[in-house]
Amino acid sequence: MKLLIIEDEKKLASALSTLLQAENYLVDMSYDGISGLDMALTDLYDLILLDIMLPKMDGLAVLKALRNEKINTPVILLTARNQLEDRVKGLNIGADDYLTKPFAFEELLARIKAQFRRHLHITTDDVLNFGDLNFNINTLDLFRKDKSVKLTLKESEIMQLFMMRGKMITPKELIIERLWGYDSDVEDNNVEVYISFLRKKLKYLNSDTQIKTTRGVGYALEV
Ligand code: CA
Repeated sequence: MKLLIIEDEKKLASALSTLLQAENYLVDMSYDGISGLDMALTDLYDLILLDIMLPKMDGLAVLKALRNEKINTPVILLTARNQLEDRVKGLNIGADDYLTKPFAFEELLARIKAQFRRHLHITTDDVLNFGDLNFNINTLDLFRKDKSVKLTLKESEIMQLFMMRGKMITPKELIIERLWGYDSDVEDNNVEVYISFLRKKLKYLNSDTQIKTTRGVGYALEV
């Protein structure tokens, strides 16, 4: 899962980023509303943590602009205790949840998982399904019946993307942007290397699910 933190308190942002990365999330950070909105508009994120009081453009304006552009990424607002009015306004313009600072990391994590369950069809035990495959987003175990195999972080991001997109083709560019950032100069070949690792693991599991390549376009799971 890939998260975006838009928070101008750099200490808080980097502490959250460290903790979330330890939970196997990919994390990008932005310290102001305008660059945060720019990043969020790429639609590369599974969830956004959005502070309300931000330089350049406040969090509510960022949220409004996002929803106007039909970007429906779940947003959890990070608010101060005295911002009741803003919280209500935020929920009305499309925020999915909010947390009042200071909050416990465990609570944030629980709220994030609740959003994933609601929006990404992940079961209560944090498992994604496709065909005969199940993937645990916490332990990074891919399993079929009683056989399982551990995925690396990059393999798991690709597998999650495939499973969440169902039968839709995932363009190679989307994988590159998501794993290496949209201004990266990673060779396409790198993606192919990870796809071949994943194919080997599917084979090991004797899975009926395969990764189909549509040349020049991208990949999709197929049963
Ligand atoms: Ca702030």
